[in-house]
Amino acid sequence: MAVSIPFPKKKVARALALRELAVLEAAYPNAVTALDYDSPFTLLIAVILSAQCTDARVNLTTPGLFAAYPTPQALAAADQADVERIIKSCGFFRMKAKNIIAAARGLVERHDGNVPDDRDALEALPGVGRKTANVVLSVAFDEAAFAVDTHVFRVSHRLGLTLGKTPRQVEDDVVKLVPADKLRHAHHWLILHGRAICKAPVPHCGVCPVAPLCPSVKLVAAAVGASAAGVKKTAARARPSARAGATPRRGRSS
Ligand code: SF4
Repeated sequence: MAVSIPFPKKKVARALALRELAVLEAAYPNAVTALDYDSPFTLLIAVILSAQCTDARVNLTTPGLFAAYPTPQALAAADQADVERIIKSCGFFRMKAKNIIAAARGLVERHDGNVPDDRDALEALPGVGRKTANVVLSVAFDEAAFAVDTHVFRVSHRLGLTLGKTPRQVEDDVVKLVPADKLRHAHHWLILHGRAICKAPVPHCGVCPVAPLCPSVKLVAAAVGASAAGVKKTAARARPSARAGATPRRGRSS
């Protein structure tokens, strides 16, 4: 059922926002990235591949990729068609193959084959935007960085933590709420909550631990109610025409 659920029009008070985040922290105490990686290089490539793709799909793809191209040097010298073949199931595979090869070349040419722990240097690599840089900085280097993906954007809005129209505005709002030492974990609290409960089409407010605090509960209920009423109306309108369609058939057969 497609339901259009508006975001709250006002941010919640800071004290309430902190209580909401504390509930999420308790709900997801061991939140870590779902991407498989064993070095900053493999994490960087996995994060680039994860755009518009599930982490599970990326995790199925990267073992083959890193078996063939285990280092930045190997990937920098890779044949693009072969990389495309390996990562094809990740979507946007031509662009991603081009980007990961170019990113590997950037690592080799500018950073001796190492992933830099510096935002500007990361964002200068092909295929690396602010979100990818934030994930690499926070996950690989334990930096106080907060990445905003589609789940983080949606859940932050539904909880009334932000009115930001862009990922950067959402990032700035949440960064003001979360202590620096918890920032990299907050990203995972919001992602896991968005994946498990506060889902995009219809959030499961009935089983959500933040529901007693969340300003979206009434908005969700109203949107779901309006959608169900719309479905009923459509069905009711369809019934008479179905009967009307049946009558001539009876007439014709008599
Ligand atoms: S109460 Fe509903 S809208 Fe609010 S965070 Fe929970 S699932 Fe999302």
